[in-house]
Amino acid sequence: MEALRELYQEVILDHNRSPRNFRVMEGADRKVEGYNPLCGDHYTLFLKLDGDIIRDISFSGTGCAISKASASVMTLSVKGKSKSDADVLFRQFRELVTGGLERSGSGNGLGKLAAFSGVSEFPARVKCATLPWHTLQAALESREAVVSTE
Ligand code: ZN
Repeated sequence: MEALRELYQEVILDHNRSPRNFRVMEGADRKVEGYNPLCGDHYTLFLKLDGDIIRDISFSGTGCAISKASASVMTLSVKGKSKSDADVLFRQFRELVTGGLERSGSGNGLGKLAAFSGVSEFPARVKCATLPWHTLQAALESREAVVSTE
């Protein structure tokens, strides 16, 4: 049970209990739905952009603790950042949750995102953790669409 305890460590529990930026945004520039049919995670992501900068970001919807906490921490991590900064974070985060980051050793600067390292022990949960990021990527690519992990 050690790995499972790690997976649901305090940051994840906290963000699941009280997700940050968890609201429907009025007048959003971008609005994209993300869906993970394997788990049933289903969120809508809202963005306000200032040129290339993510000026505001929020999400609504329902899903498991991992996906909700991941979306919450993601909004904190990318708010005020440029699209290319967000892309770099996503690449690092994806490496982290698929277990590749230890090998590449590029995990500095992930901050609270590092709380999701335990996800790499549970391949079925990787899609839960990355769903918000795939949805963000679609939103930044100006796609008004429904993103599915399948
Ligand atoms: Zn899930």
